[in-house]
Amino acid sequence: MRLPLVLAPLFGMGLLLATPVFAAEAPAPSIDQPVLRIIAADVDPKALESTIKSLVGFGTRHTLSDTQSETRGIGAARRWAKGRFQTISKDCGGCLTIETPSETVTGRRVPNPTEVMDVLAIQKGISDPDRVIIIAGHIDSRVNDVMDFTSDAPGANDDASGVAAVIEAARVLSKHKFPATLVFAVLSGEEQGLLGGKVLASYAKAHGWKVEADLNNDIVGNSHGQSGVIDNTHVRIFSEGTKAVETPEQANSRRYNGGEVDSPSRNLARFMDGLADRYLTNFDVVMVYRTDRYGRGGDQVPLLEAGYPAVRVTEAIENYDRQHQSLRTENGRPYGDVIEGVDFAYLAQVTRLNTVAMASLASAPAPPQGVKIDGAVSADTKVSWTATPGAAGHRVWWRGTTEPTWRYSRWVPVGVTTTLKDVVIDDWFFGVSSVTADGWESPVVFPGPAGSFESAPPVAIATPK
Ligand SMILES: [Zn+2]
Repeated sequence: MRLPLVLAPLFGMGLLLATPVFAAEAPAPSIDQPVLRIIAADVDPKALESTIKSLVGFGTRHTLSDTQSETRGIGAARRWAKGRFQTISKDCGGCLTIETPSETVTGRRVPNPTEVMDVLAIQKGISDPDRVIIIAGHIDSRVNDVMDFTSDAPGANDDASGVAAVIEAARVLSKHKFPATLVFAVLSGEEQGLLGGKVLASYAKAHGWKVEADLNNDIVGNSHGQSGVIDNTHVRIFSEGTKAVETPEQANSRRYNGGEVDSPSRNLARFMDGLADRYLTNFDVVMVYRTDRYGRGGDQVPLLEAGYPAVRVTEAIENYDRQHQSLRTENGRPYGDVIEGVDFAYLAQVTRLNTVAMASLASAPAPPQGVKIDGAVSADTKVSWTATPGAAGHRVWWRGTTEPTWRYSRWVPVGVTTTLKDVVIDDWFFGVSSVTADGWESPVVFPGPAGSFESAPPVAIATPK
């Protein structure tokens, strides 16, 4: 978000303003992280282009397509992605573990039992490996007829662009070490019913991952909209407002006290918006307060249904002549998801946002747990939380109840509670982030179950239909 000029200094000065109150205690660490600019600069448009060229070269990557050929079909494409991860891992001294979880599926868009296989590269965290940050894209492609698994389906933008972002993120981030685990996920079966996302969610549950973020990159490389509008300076981040796994009791409490725009996924979107403002040049986030585009879905949905924070990252302006279209020309108008429709410089910007977000999340402490507010019928608000391992302090945030993003903050270097004097609980939304001694800050956590980043108790993941 671009802040109005009068507000912009408040963000930078928030720390300074708060400092005198705690003059005897540790000052707030600087939030600026130069390494994030190095990471952003390392993203290479040429590498993204090369990945998309290779993927388009497999003709079709339809989920039901040939898996035996070395040159055509989804099997060859998946093996190629696995090979790329292996090469990247070799360059970082074997820092990636490659897994290929799969499920055999029959369903509405899968008439015969078909193996849906994901390719995951896992960069284990050095000190907090159970905490997991995921970037995902889907390797499968389609044409108009979703059951047509033989026609050429280049899927250059949907979603070779997302896979290219995933692989480039692996190349860039594997040169660095992080406390938490990074997962680079190439998914299958999206077009047949979000099947690869379900495989990923099941794998995460089975391995006890504490997933703090899933960044689902789907359709991220086009800057020329169908309407003729060109936008290469924004990317949309879609996030659910309330948790897919909210219980009826939690929904009752949330309806009464607020929290319908403060799911962990929504606060993850705000976190990414803030990073774009600070670390990217001429590129910004447009948050969309929806789970996905109207009436449409993506692989973040199965993760949300498993109780994990997840967002969908999608280009600012879509071109529907190039989505799910069979290659053809009608009345002089070309259709099809061809590589000519990808803007590699734009895709590089989207990839930078992802890498900066993953590095930040994996370097920060876990988002605080047990966040609570008290203070009804009093002039002050007491905010409390449980101690966060690895945090040197916490920052308490608040904003007006109709404001889209966090505005005010106070640094709390010691303890697990603070009282905001003369801040009336009724009139503001509150949140807490955790901060390391060197200034890495987690996303802000809204109080109670509505905002908690903790994975919900295991829920049955719907069998793919
Ligand atoms: Zn897609």
